[in-house]
Amino acid sequence: MNTIDQFINACREKGLNVTYQRILIYKSLVNSKEHPTAETIFEDVKSEYPSISLATVYKTLETLAEHQLIDKVTPLHDLARYDGNTDQHQHVVCLHCRKIVDVYEDSLNGISLPDHDDFQISGYRIQFEGICQECANGRDPEERTNHKRERQELTFCGKLQ
Ligand SMILES: [Zn+2]
Ligand SMILES: [Zn+2]
Repeated sequence: MNTIDQFINACREKGLNVTYQRILIYKSLVNSKEHPTAETIFEDVKSEYPSISLATVYKTLETLAEHQLIDKVTPLHDLARYDGNTDQHQHVVCLHCRKIVDVYEDSLNGISLPDHDDFQISGYRIQFEGICQECANGRDPEERTNHKRERQELTFCGKLQ
């Protein structure tokens, strides 16, 4: 389920109101490959819908996740991150910068669920952990952004002089 039309239909099937806010939030999530936090989506949606609040974005994401319209990824007990891609797939998380990247590996999708006396086991998640290329190369993605900003400011000053 990836198109907005499919999303609207799925909402209706599940008895959820289709609001402009919900569509904006879903669109922002589906267009992202980053598995963003509620805050990142809030920053993105705010430009189109300035009166939206972070609480609304957070509540909307939680509601959509509860109804399996999106997925929730909680890497290493950090802030919740969300995933618009509900196809079966796994994740690898960078232990340094918390970047999350999709892993498609068919052999991981057919694992049989164990019988358990005290549990009705309904599914599983596999999370790989490691260090992403950028961190392995000693480049902190955040630092890089700062450097870029500094450079831009310098260029701007240069123009003024
Ligand atoms: Zn990293
Ligand atoms: Zn994913």
